[in-house]
Amino acid sequence: MDNSSLPKSQVRILKAHLIPPLTCPLCNGIFKEATTINECMHTFCKDCIYQKSQAKGIACCPKCNKDLSHLSPEDYLRPDERWRNIVKLYNEGQTPQATPPPSIAATTSKSTAKQLKKNKNKGQKTG
Ligand SMILES: [Zn+2]
Ligand SMILES: [Zn+2]
Repeated sequence: MDNSSLPKSQVRILKAHLIPPLTCPLCNGIFKEATTINECMHTFCKDCIYQKSQAKGIACCPKCNKDLSHLSPEDYLRPDERWRNIVKLYNEGQTPQATPPPSIAATTSKSTAKQLKKNKNKGQKTG
């Protein structure tokens, strides 16, 4: 039996596993100013959950439908520093480097210079 070749998809699954807990079920994006419902410990973006909880007729957790109508949003919502830190770390790791590696920059400027030269020669002929 040869089990040495593991399917590559396994790596992908592991990576995808990191994302769902960071996403807001209301906007499906990464938490912005993560805010947690004390009553059921579900987390959402601050804007998303405040919009929901302040909408008329909706006074329950959008995720598990826990009844929150007897509370005011200020009572059951709290800023979740732990999640905010996790999101911050996640974003820092995820953000691609602003400056391209030097090797790429060199190649780009070289080929651009070549093209400029070509264009110059062409331009001299006309006139
Ligand atoms: Zn959201
Ligand atoms: Zn809930």
